[in-house]
Amino acid sequence: MNKDWISIIPKITAHPKDNHRVKCPNCGEYGIEYIYVGDEKTKIGYLQIWCRKCLKGIYVSRVIAPANANFATFDDDLKEIVPNYDFIND
Ligand SMILES: [Zn+2]
Repeated sequence: MNKDWISIIPKITAHPKDNHRVKCPNCGEYGIEYIYVGDEKTKIGYLQIWCRKCLKGIYVSRVIAPANANFATFDDDLKEIVPNYDFIND
């Protein structure tokens, strides 16, 4: 469920470069990847979290990227970073 994914966000932001020890809420594997995408200066944008093992994940709008988190700007080509994954919406 979506709230299970929301609950892992603090675990990711607590150790932004060590996301591989966060378990996937869907399949239970350690395959969590994420990227904040936003404005270079304000760091305001959105967050995408997905699991590279089962390719499920979420999209969270209106967030501010924490310092040291994986970050891309709106101009970056996300096709190289984010795979096609299924959004968990409920
Ligand atoms: Zn998974």
